[in-house]
Amino acid sequence: GTVDIECDMMVLGAGPGGYSAAFRSADLGLSTVLVERYSTLGGVCLNVGCIPSKALLHVAAVIDETAAMSGHGVTFAKPQIDLDALRAHKDGVIKQMTGGLDGMAKARKVNVVQGLGQFVSPHHIEVTAADGSKKVVQFKQAIIAAGSSVVKLPFVPEDPRIVDSTGALELRQIPKRMLVIGGGIIGLEMATVYSTLGARIDVVEMMDGLMQGADRDMVKVWQKHNQHRFDNVMTKTKTVGVEALPEGIKVTFEAAEAGAAAPAPQLYDLVLVAVGRSPNGKKIAAEKAGVAVTDRGFINVDKQMRTNVPHIFAIGDLVGQPMLAHKAVHEAHVAAEAAAGHKAFFDATVIPSVAYTDPEVAWVGVTEDEAKAKGLAIEKGVFPWAASGRAVANGRAEGFTKLIFDAESKRVIGGGIVGTHAGDMIGEVAVAIEMGADAVDIGKTIHPHPTLGESIGMAAEVYKGVCT
Ligand code: FAD
Repeated sequence: GTVDIECDMMVLGAGPGGYSAAFRSADLGLSTVLVERYSTLGGVCLNVGCIPSKALLHVAAVIDETAAMSGHGVTFAKPQIDLDALRAHKDGVIKQMTGGLDGMAKARKVNVVQGLGQFVSPHHIEVTAADGSKKVVQFKQAIIAAGSSVVKLPFVPEDPRIVDSTGALELRQIPKRMLVIGGGIIGLEMATVYSTLGARIDVVEMMDGLMQGADRDMVKVWQKHNQHRFDNVMTKTKTVGVEALPEGIKVTFEAAEAGAAAPAPQLYDLVLVAVGRSPNGKKIAAEKAGVAVTDRGFINVDKQMRTNVPHIFAIGDLVGQPMLAHKAVHEAHVAAEAAAGHKAFFDATVIPSVAYTDPEVAWVGVTEDEAKAKGLAIEKGVFPWAASGRAVANGRAEGFTKLIFDAESKRVIGGGIVGTHAGDMIGEVAVAIEMGADAVDIGKTIHPHPTLGESIGMAAEVYKGVCT
């Protein structure tokens, strides 16, 4: 067939993985085509994920903080919420960020081809634009970064009062009663926004606790501080029926454990389904390129992010958990560098996780609960923020900072922080783990006082094994 564009590198998908891969490829001298079906770059993260959610969470945090100021002797008037203006602000943030990516692509001469890409051979992809016109791109190497999509529950009907995370971020209405199905990070971040804007929230979660993956002692601190947001937190509970009635969305539940009592059915004004994301591996005709896709839609890769077809790489949500933007970006750089002939490998020891709730919950490496479950010999240092002058001055002393050490080597292998700005601080623990730091390295590093970040140094000092 005819070929419209030839390139060294074709990147499929322009999320954090794809744009990072395309930019690095171009920087390394490869002529690069970036295929994206949507009109803006940035993928899920910039358009309907990380960035818009944080724009709304910032507003929620300011509203909550000003309300708390009455306890500090300053009282603000009740906030007036102009939903249209708030939405416009959030959309403006997205526009600024995606527009910035356009400029970066142009500066690097990355050729952005808009349309739905489907492989037609191991060296060709066909891109169908919205108007139906087609272009064939021939490539020497490729990086697949097609990302993931929301998981739908089969029994949930179509109704404007039932949304996924994308719909929730559109902020069409502030309901009186809202149900969040799925007590993971995304569901709880949106619960934070909607509750601060005035909704009463219920959460239903199949597992025995919210925010799976984080240590229970951290989640407990978050949950205590957030009790006021929730009418019902239903754990170990399955959602088994969702019905769109004129008077509301009727939701029926079942206990996840046999014999346990189920909560009564409830009526809601808005239901957010946030039960996870599934990889887009089956939607790109990967088989035409000979690329193997698992039953669940993931693409397996080696340490250089190569698929079973050596000149085709894959990165991001599509290659496995954790589905996080910073993992995608890191993998993108490995893939692009390997494609350019560098000896690059994905050898990160840890990938941090952050719930941008209030307080934030952040963790990295081995968690205490995981160590217990696996019988690992660990020791820990915990610094309660009640002893942090800065946290007390902020009126936010509920948090703590915890470091996990290998009992034998005394090196730090994990850490968790619950408290305001935890997400901004967890990177220090990640650096310490990657560098093989021990408690002395961290504890004897002079941290500025008074900061929340010095709680990391204090947690190392508290740890008696080394620092006496
Ligand atoms: P994606 O961002 O999914 O991008 C894939 C791109 O490929 C899309 O633009 C898609 O249109 C395009 N594409 C797919 N198939 C084709 C095709 N056949 N042809 C053309 N184009 C195609 N992560 C964090 O690290 N921090 C957060 O705070 C955070 N918050 C989140 C909040 C929400 C509400 C959601 C939903 C996710 C959040 N995430 C967060 C996860 C983060 O968005 C993803 O991990 C990240 O976007 C994955 O990047 P990616 O490049 O793998 O894929």
